[in-house]
Amino acid sequence: MKYISTRGKSPPKTFDEAVLTGLASDGGLFIPQEIPHFSLEEISSWKSFSYHELAQRVINPFVGDSIPSGDLARLIREAYSGFRNDSVAPLVKTGSNEWVLELFHGPTLAFKDFALQFLGNLLDYILQKREQRVVILGATSGDTGSAAIEGCRGCPNIDMFILHPHERVSDVQRRQMTTVNASNVNNVALLGSFDDCQNMVKACFSDQSFLPPDRQLVAVNSINWARIVAQIVYYFWAALRLESGTKQVSFSVPTGNFGDIYAGYIAHKMGLPINQLIIATNANDILHRCVSANDHSLKPLKRTLAPSMDIMISSNFERLLFDLYDRDGAAIERLMADAKSGNMYLDDAAIIELRKLFFSYKCDDQHLLSVISSVYRDSRYLIDPHTAIGLEAARKCRISDEFPMVALATAHPAKFPEAIRKAGFADDPKLPEHMSDLFELKEKFIVLENKRTDVENFIKEAITR
Ligand SMILES: *Cc1c(COP(=O)(O)O)cnc(C)c1O
Repeated sequence: MKYISTRGKSPPKTFDEAVLTGLASDGGLFIPQEIPHFSLEEISSWKSFSYHELAQRVINPFVGDSIPSGDLARLIREAYSGFRNDSVAPLVKTGSNEWVLELFHGPTLAFKDFALQFLGNLLDYILQKREQRVVILGATSGDTGSAAIEGCRGCPNIDMFILHPHERVSDVQRRQMTTVNASNVNNVALLGSFDDCQNMVKACFSDQSFLPPDRQLVAVNSINWARIVAQIVYYFWAALRLESGTKQVSFSVPTGNFGDIYAGYIAHKMGLPINQLIIATNANDILHRCVSANDHSLKPLKRTLAPSMDIMISSNFERLLFDLYDRDGAAIERLMADAKSGNMYLDDAAIIELRKLFFSYKCDDQHLLSVISSVYRDSRYLIDPHTAIGLEAARKCRISDEFPMVALATAHPAKFPEAIRKAGFADDPKLPEHMSDLFELKEKFIVLENKRTDVENFIKEAITR
């Protein structure tokens, strides 16, 4: 399997190369040259598979010859062995033919564990094979950092540096990162915003001459293709539980960088019958405006109670546009330049195609708080603010009761106590057993000025030889 760039100018890469490289040399994102396809008959024959077996079947064609299938099976088994639910991704009924898919049973209580537990093991494997050492550098607004650290903490060939904006992530989120006691993990609290963190990371990637000659930077943000691949699996998993994979199912996805819902789109292209894919946004509603009104204009970013979705330009949307524009790299390059400079308009044909499968909805803070309390009142089921947005979008956008509707629960409510309190609950939701000592553990992080030389010098000093 070869990987090509959405901008059409970078030479094709192998799976290993695409995973290690992140962004293509022409600024585009990697996607597989061809998407594997399965018949309904074949898909329904997977119904009795365990989560691991299903993951093996779904992921294997994307990896191709890069990893022998026995090794891949081991990587997958190890990735999901730390999940605290036998089903890995259980479904909970919340209404008439309506379900929540709980994706928060991994070590850091957010769905990002699905991708990053796998990516950590995969990187470790690829690096050992290539006898290579790398430096992971990433920025986080909260959930990605802890999931990446949990995924890579045990990898001897990796040094990790995670930048978070000083005093702008929740206490739970910060402690999940800073209490991990591993010599290859380094947390930096940058004196700046999340955007400053991201810009710092981009600047370091663009000129890596500060690193020792035998090291390169690797990105683990949501554009990494291995992350997408791991997320495709649970769409199949949910559909097989509900309809044996032969009848249509709909999904509603709390969306930020468009990685999670794009995985659903790939599942659909692989042959999974999907009726609707609903893009659920918070007050940062650029994707909702784009789908509903062809308005992709930039507006100032708002801080919301669903911070993991506080994103302006969603990176992975480019991958969908590439298909909507018949894989025309030059057209994508123009569109992305327009998007960056303020607005992008899609052709009629692209909009029509987009709306065949995708629907969208916006849910602001006030609204999501009322959803959290009404769902609890009706079902005694406590949901986190991101999940509330997804569930409300599912209810508002649904076009048919005939097909099961699945809302993705992307985080555990205990990660966002502030929102739960604001929704009218007197007590903070309890952290699961394995994290109950989170507030007693010793934290380790360094506060740095938003200066490139300071960050580079810190990395240089801290890299293990
Ligand atoms: C990252 C995240 C999202 C958004 O997912 P994308 O793949 O970026 O669209 C939604 N909810 C939670 C809890 C997250 O951590």
